[in-house]
Amino acid sequence: MHILVANDDGIYAPGIIALARAMTAFGKVTVVTPKENRSAIGHKKTMHKPQRADPVPFPVEGVTAYATSEAPSDAVALALLGLVKEPIDLVVSGINRGGNMGQDLTYSGTVSVAFEAVIGRKPAMAFSLDDFSEDANYSAAAAIAQQLVALGLWRALPPLTLLNVNVPPLPLEQIKGFRVVRQGLRQYNDELIARVDPYGRPYYWIGGQAPTGDMSEEGTDLWAVAQGYVAVTPIHMDMTNYAQMRALQRGELERLRPGAE
Ligand code: MN
Repeated sequence: MHILVANDDGIYAPGIIALARAMTAFGKVTVVTPKENRSAIGHKKTMHKPQRADPVPFPVEGVTAYATSEAPSDAVALALLGLVKEPIDLVVSGINRGGNMGQDLTYSGTVSVAFEAVIGRKPAMAFSLDDFSEDANYSAAAAIAQQLVALGLWRALPPLTLLNVNVPPLPLEQIKGFRVVRQGLRQYNDELIARVDPYGRPYYWIGGQAPTGDMSEEGTDLWAVAQGYVAVTPIHMDMTNYAQMRALQRGELERLRPGAE
């Protein structure tokens, strides 16, 4: 088996090294990922400037690695479009420093790796550790990633569907199990910080406290991780709200003549 590994924390982030090492249990591993941190970059496609992908040494034996210049999703696109010659069976992203739950998914570089993979018709899983600390320990999350890849759930995923996995910040023996859950409700505690630059022009910075969220609503990713479970959420790239679509179809919109009062 040949597994492609990427994420958004920079190529030598401890989480990506831990995931690449865990994936070597299944065969060949290639890392193609941004050289620098590109967290919260979302799902980006770089079209108007050149991209770099330089072969670099990687601290796991037998792993081939390329450090790229643009977004994590760009790195996956480069890999799938031919930078990586050998066919890829599975794309995994992570292990991210910090959870990717609720509305985080649209900001997430980690999940965008999996989005790009499923667009390229490759099965994909995204792994995040709900611990943003500098010295977070990725060993339990790496063991979980290895267990879930071995389980082979990814082989049965329908088109444009990926598995988003969030691991609680606990030692392996304290993790209670797995919960298959939906996206919860994040709360962002962002604050607009407005200052003036040395030339007298205003500039803005989005600051504030780290995001929180509703941990009490059972059956969500935020709830599962707060309870000490690994949260597994199948994500579909079809963002259509079907109930709302049907409600709108029942309304007058489709009977209107364009431009009429
Ligand atoms: Mn990140």
